[in-house]
Amino acid sequence: MLAVLGLSSAACIEPEAFEFPPTDVVYEGDLIRIRAAPGLEPCGGTGRSMEAMLSLLISETALGGLESPLEVYWLRGDDVQELCKADSEIVGCSLSTTEAVTSRMPEEHEVVHAYFERKGAPFRYSFFDEGMATVYGTGTHVPAPQTPLEESILFDRRMPGVHYPRAGHFVSFLIEEFGPQTTAAFVAQSSSVTSESLPVDFEAHFGEPLERVIEAYTTEMPESCAGRGWQRFSACEQEPTEWGSTFTWEVNVGAGCEDEVSLGGSGGAVRERFIYETDEDVVVQVQGVGIVDHRPRVELMRCGGGCEEEFSYTHDLEENGVLFGLPLDAGKYLVKSEFESGAPIEPSGISIRRDP
Ligand SMILES: [Zn+2]
Repeated sequence: MLAVLGLSSAACIEPEAFEFPPTDVVYEGDLIRIRAAPGLEPCGGTGRSMEAMLSLLISETALGGLESPLEVYWLRGDDVQELCKADSEIVGCSLSTTEAVTSRMPEEHEVVHAYFERKGAPFRYSFFDEGMATVYGTGTHVPAPQTPLEESILFDRRMPGVHYPRAGHFVSFLIEEFGPQTTAAFVAQSSSVTSESLPVDFEAHFGEPLERVIEAYTTEMPESCAGRGWQRFSACEQEPTEWGSTFTWEVNVGAGCEDEVSLGGSGGAVRERFIYETDEDVVVQVQGVGIVDHRPRVELMRCGGGCEEEFSYTHDLEENGVLFGLPLDAGKYLVKSEFESGAPIEPSGISIRRDP
């Protein structure tokens, strides 16, 4: 996860003379248009899922809608390196002309940057910009921060990926304290802010000294809870999938890449997201059916957060097929399954069975 975050660290590249390689439009919605290199095909739910994230970001930040869709270029790795002017291998970047460039699907992180390019100014303060992209644009659980805030917050431009969890964690605190609108407005307008001017610019915008906010953050978000659910998942806004019977919740996950709940595409892993809800504390067992030979992995993340140990559970079902005795507090969970494409269409699924 950290490696992936680190690889996607090149935000906002200024285009010099470049040309996009040939692409075909493979998805077109009101908010996003995906242009893919020949031969790349997204799974059925990919575009809509990316739009759901963007739609949540737009409604919470109130930075405004889009007159035309954001362009997302899904390209082969070499072309991404070239367009992003990367000297090491990266997953994607966003351009100051507001296109998102990526080698993977779904891509949400760079779409958050592209939206801020469109609604704000380019070359924003890296720590806050990456924090925003980490809070809204990471469809999977980000690990607890490993870097000290005092160090990470000084990266005004080109912050290395190892600092992203700290940035996301601190920005989520700002969102909680000052609201997403005030926080997003600061990020959008942070192009002229430097690490030297930060204390003055921060106080001018938020109305509180940075030092005092850091002190509150340190007190109210202790390290023991540093991985708590501070990410925003648009899937958590969906209606929960219904229970199959009193004790069992089952979803089919092997419907194939064409299915509307499938994300990703072109031969890579297929990912799917569902919402599981329980109105009482339960102990469950989680089982993969029919996909055990296809490296299935299931992740449960509590919608609305909680501390690390109660927020996210990841399990490679390949190892022993079943996860027994997982205690879940009452609440709503985002269930993510991931497996190699090519799994049989049926019967295959994830079942969550609670003890009677
Ligand atoms: Zn980024």
